[in-house]
Amino acid sequence: MNLLIVESPSKAKTIEKYLGSGWHVIASVGHVRDLIPENGSVDTKNDFKPKWQIMPGKEKQLKLIIDELKKADNVYLASDPDREGEAIAWHINDILNAKNVLKGKNVYRVAFHEITKNAVTEAIKHPREIDNNLVDAYLVRRILDYLIGFSVSPLLWKRNLGKSAGRVQSVAVKLVVDREKEIESFKAKEYWSVIANCTVDKNKFDANLIKYNGKKIEKMTLENKTIVNEIVSNINTPTFGCISNIDRKKTQRHAYAPFTTSTLQQEAASKLSFSSKRTMATAQKLYEQGFITYMRTDATNLSNEAVSEIREYISKEYGNKFLPKQPNVYITKSKNAQEAHEAIRPTHFSDSKTDLSGDELKLYNLIWKRTIACQMTNAEFDSVSVDIDVKNAVFHCVGTTRIFDGFMKVYTEDNDDNNKENDNVKLPPLNINDKIEIKSLKSEQHFTQPPARFSEASLVKKLEELGIGRPSTYATIMSTIVDRKYVEQDKQHRFHPTIAGWILVSYLSNYFKDLVDVNFTAKTEDTLDDVSNGVRDKLSSLKSFWEPTNKTIESAKNIKTTDIIDKINEFMNNHLFKDNNDKCPKCGAKLGIKLSKYGAFIGCSNYPKCDYTMKLSDNLYTAENQEKIQEIKEKDLGENIIFKIGKFGPYVTDGSKNVSAKKYTFETITLDIARELLSDNNKKKVEPINLGKNPDTGKIIYYYSDGKYGPYISSNRVNISVKEQPDLETAIDLINNKKTKRFVKRGK
Ligand SMILES: [Zn+2]
Repeated sequence: MNLLIVESPSKAKTIEKYLGSGWHVIASVGHVRDLIPENGSVDTKNDFKPKWQIMPGKEKQLKLIIDELKKADNVYLASDPDREGEAIAWHINDILNAKNVLKGKNVYRVAFHEITKNAVTEAIKHPREIDNNLVDAYLVRRILDYLIGFSVSPLLWKRNLGKSAGRVQSVAVKLVVDREKEIESFKAKEYWSVIANCTVDKNKFDANLIKYNGKKIEKMTLENKTIVNEIVSNINTPTFGCISNIDRKKTQRHAYAPFTTSTLQQEAASKLSFSSKRTMATAQKLYEQGFITYMRTDATNLSNEAVSEIREYISKEYGNKFLPKQPNVYITKSKNAQEAHEAIRPTHFSDSKTDLSGDELKLYNLIWKRTIACQMTNAEFDSVSVDIDVKNAVFHCVGTTRIFDGFMKVYTEDNDDNNKENDNVKLPPLNINDKIEIKSLKSEQHFTQPPARFSEASLVKKLEELGIGRPSTYATIMSTIVDRKYVEQDKQHRFHPTIAGWILVSYLSNYFKDLVDVNFTAKTEDTLDDVSNGVRDKLSSLKSFWEPTNKTIESAKNIKTTDIIDKINEFMNNHLFKDNNDKCPKCGAKLGIKLSKYGAFIGCSNYPKCDYTMKLSDNLYTAENQEKIQEIKEKDLGENIIFKIGKFGPYVTDGSKNVSAKKYTFETITLDIARELLSDNNKKKVEPINLGKNPDTGKIIYYYSDGKYGPYISSNRVNISVKEQPDLETAIDLINNKKTKRFVKRGK
């Protein structure tokens, strides 16, 4: 009898199907042992000796394993093929050894990167020992995280500075705060462009002004409307221009590499709106049922077998035009080659149809397409760039036509930061010296944009670029910083730091520079990789990290709280008080942040003489931001229509009538939209969304996105303001709670 131990019940089910009689597969249900969550579980004076405990609730599962073990001759430890999986195998082996139940039995470690019959039986034919290097890397990581958690967090609690300071999470919060600082200090600059409406043989196209009176016009050259008006009136349309230069080029675009954990999370976020957590949970299910290879990887290479199956599929399905002569090769840049094996890909290519549904089907399709596309030919483009001389000006336009789809037939990547290239801008056939009719000129006002806030996708990308975090940790980092309320997400799923996030980062970057330092954290991750590759040893790594950190912690214990608060105020001043507007309205002294058990607030530095306090709401910045936008007062859209931002948000006006334009910004508003808003037939109301029935009342709950005071939900004459569309459960909660409150009040 053989016993195979995996960590998840669904993986156990899949594998048991493949192995047949003589085998029993049992799950440990994740980790079974961890450091005791109290002070002193790591003895830093005694080679970092850890004190472990069986995790609460796991005793039962261990007993099941031990019972099964009695009937077995051979034990296979088959947890996931990475650092954490190796650690689970090691813990189980260690526990069973200590209980003396492995006597006379053979213990093997096996790992599979895909759970297919072939991969499982092959792995069992080639078992190995537990990899001590991987286990050591896990131990260093776990012990470091523990030491930081148990030494820094109490310092936070004592002074109401925050809940906890995780190693990698704190850097992620700092990235979000740093971006917010950049945005807050950003000054938008105005610039203009001049566009010619060109016509040739009834074909219309646009061209941009690039030269005027011999001077090159660049993005920021035209600073204001006066300059632009002068140019427009000098060129004076309608008029004619002449083509002075034509450049024709063929360009190609190469397919994207197959998915790694990070690129999968990024693409699932932009294409499917999945959070990192949702993507990883779904990928895990696909892996455990044998549909895809292991989902925690930073490798981009594919096995030879997979490549030949993919090539066969492309040739059969799309024809040889889409099949490159040689397979496309993607080289893995990863440093921890020990753990990295293959990209995330489907396990079978003969048939894309599966009986999956919901999230699993959506994610599987994405992986399927990306994998097939990565072995397809380049996409090809014809591009034409044309200069048109008009009097003393030169206009320029570029036309691009996709002439061969190549891999784009199957897959195109979404760009998170909105700088999508235009693939297909068609120009009519044009030749040098052709006469072009310029019917009119259009001038457009623009403003430079602050850097975009991070989304989950762009933050994961950034962490990967900086060498922070690893495939196994990105999703946890994202959910931890949200769960601990250091950041929150807006409707576009962009991260905003909360006040708690600001305070944490102010404190850590003043007193624990290393903990939030990008290079330091990247170096620590590298050290872990070195340990897992057997280049460095466990003890020296722990020492080199812990000794300086411990010194910092010891000296941080003695810093006076008032000093800390001064530093925090310095760090946050621009965020809290725009334009140094930090005078107490009661006595004129300086205002500043104060920390209490019940949260942060603004108080007067003249306390206790002056008792002025002010609430500190987390949406402070949103209001401030609005003010900032108001610095640029308005945007002239033409035809005497102006877009403005007022006290109640953006609106358009034609001088006689104002209409709210809440959905628009300086960048997205156009003359057409403004005309439409101002016209009388703009009375159509946005239809409410039916969220479902409230089981308590039997009435439908509706969501209105366009209430006078913002979005709200409504059911049975109860209205409640909401930030965004809630799910039914939340809506029911809100409605029922409000109802109870009203009822209670009446009863009094
Ligand atoms: Zn005061």
